Amino acid sequence: MSALILDGKSLAKKTEAELSQRVTALKLANNGQAPILATILVGSDPASGTYVKMKQNACQRIGMESIAVELPEETTTEQLLAKINELNANPNCHGILLQHPVPAQIDERACFDAIDAEKDVDGVTCLGFGRMAMNELAYGSATPQGIMRILEAYNIELSGKHAVVVGRSPILGKPMALMLLNANATVTICHSRTQDLPSLIKQADILVGAVGRPEFIKAEWIKDGAVVVDAGYHPGGLGDIELAPITQTATAYTPVPGGVGPMTINTLILQCVMAAEKKLS
Ligand code: NAP
Repeated sequence: MSALILDGKSLAKKTEAELSQRVTALKLANNGQAPILATILVGSDPASGTYVKMKQNACQRIGMESIAVELPEETTTEQLLAKINELNANPNCHGILLQHPVPAQIDERACFDAIDAEKDVDGVTCLGFGRMAMNELAYGSATPQGIMRILEAYNIELSGKHAVVVGRSPILGKPMALMLLNANATVTICHSRTQDLPSLIKQADILVGAVGRPEFIKAEWIKDGAVVVDAGYHPGGLGDIELAPITQTATAYTPVPGGVGPMTINTLILQCVMAAEKKLS
């Protein structure tokens, strides 16, 4: 039987229609002022430039505005912190996105943590992570939060299931694991020092690939009937998981492209709308 396709692209499109209405209501209630997302791009990495552009376009599609901050490659931590503080103080800016990764000379963690918690709509601060981990109100890190939203939209049962997350980065694997734990899954986190990865993956009812290496996770490691989430995206449309062979054996899977990617951007703009609504209320 064919696996269910967890179609992030169409879910994001549907949510955008609802978000447009919420933005219209916000404008009416706020003298015509739309919510604003500030995007900060440091340096000239073409992939980062494309991601930022896609995020700005998504804002535009739902009637939001964006402030595009572009800083040169040689920007220092102090200069970036000054820009973030300026945006923190701007009452018309509701959310701040600092595009990861920043150039090596910058202390990225210090800059993420300088973002005001109320404007941390990409869910990158330690404070936001801690609150999310404790099941308190917080904007979740956009990619794992987007994954949780797609699993929920397709009624994928998580409680009591064994979820295996491959990757433990601060913006993806680690928050993903905590979100699944909060949803009552039993969670195994794998990383570069994990031993016998295939046997751990074989136990997964829910598998999340967040490794950053094209088709690193092999189809033969995945048990029949698993729900497979591929967060990876590489040139040529490959993910982190070898997806083609499992389209007949899995219960469900996120395609690449069109699965996790659109939900990440959608979650960012959703959380920015939520921040604007919170401010207005
Ligand atoms: P990252 O920071 O490079 O983290 C990669 C993780 O994979 C690390 O935790 C690393 O372990 C682990 N890893 C590396 N080699 C491994 C191995 N041989 N066995 C097991 N684990 C291994 O990457 P990331 O930012 O989390 O991104 C992961 C993937 O998601 C990438 O493909 C990226 O393009 C994609 N992504 C997609 C979106 C989206 O919107 N669709 C957003 C963000 C990222 P250690 O911690 O031990 O080094």
